[in-house]
Amino acid sequence: MAKILIVEDELKIARFLELELKHEGYEVLIAQDGRQGLEKALKEMVDLVILDIMLPGLNGIEVCRRIRMESQVPIIMLTAKDDVSDKVAGLDTGADDYMTKPFAIEELLARIRVALNRKRSVAEPKNESLIIGELKINPASRTVFYKDDEIVLTKKEYELLEYLVRNRNMVVSREQLLNHVWDYEYFGDTNVVDVYVRYLRQKIDDKYGILLISTVRGVGYIIKDAQ
Ligand code: CA
Repeated sequence: MAKILIVEDELKIARFLELELKHEGYEVLIAQDGRQGLEKALKEMVDLVILDIMLPGLNGIEVCRRIRMESQVPIIMLTAKDDVSDKVAGLDTGADDYMTKPFAIEELLARIRVALNRKRSVAEPKNESLIIGELKINPASRTVFYKDDEIVLTKKEYELLEYLVRNRNMVVSREQLLNHVWDYEYFGDTNVVDVYVRYLRQKIDDKYGILLISTVRGVGYIIKDAQ
């Protein structure tokens, strides 16, 4: 399970986050000031850092900058105020994301999943062709062929198809697709997934008379190996 470091001097918030993250099955470390946070982020092999900006000693922006000199670990910044300059400074120093306090825990959890998955997908070999029946996907060129016919897809259609194929033989929920393909642009609105599945079916299933994408009622979608 992923190990998450919380760098937060407000103990109430740190404990609350610890509880929620442990409940989700994550391993949790806490640091209560910037220097401790920096040290743990670099020495403890953590998978993700939740970093408050307002910290005693070394502030979060500075901690982020110093982490980035040595590590590409995903960083989600927390800011107490809705201050645009803080957000910009955080993202400029290499944070992956930020949230303004107070935040909904569900949204933070979703963003954590996105950041961890992005990290995972960077680590996986991405360029080998994916083949499902007569369908061939080339991730390097982001092209899709059915036999010798090229299927022209939009960016999101392609990403949706690639994700379903990479998770072949598993039911993928709408929320999962929303998180992976759309990040949190459409937070909570899974209709967009159905709309794009429909586009894919028009371009592939309907056109070639196959059943590529199956609906699993009430859950999501699946692409199976055997067509
Ligand atoms: Ca603080």
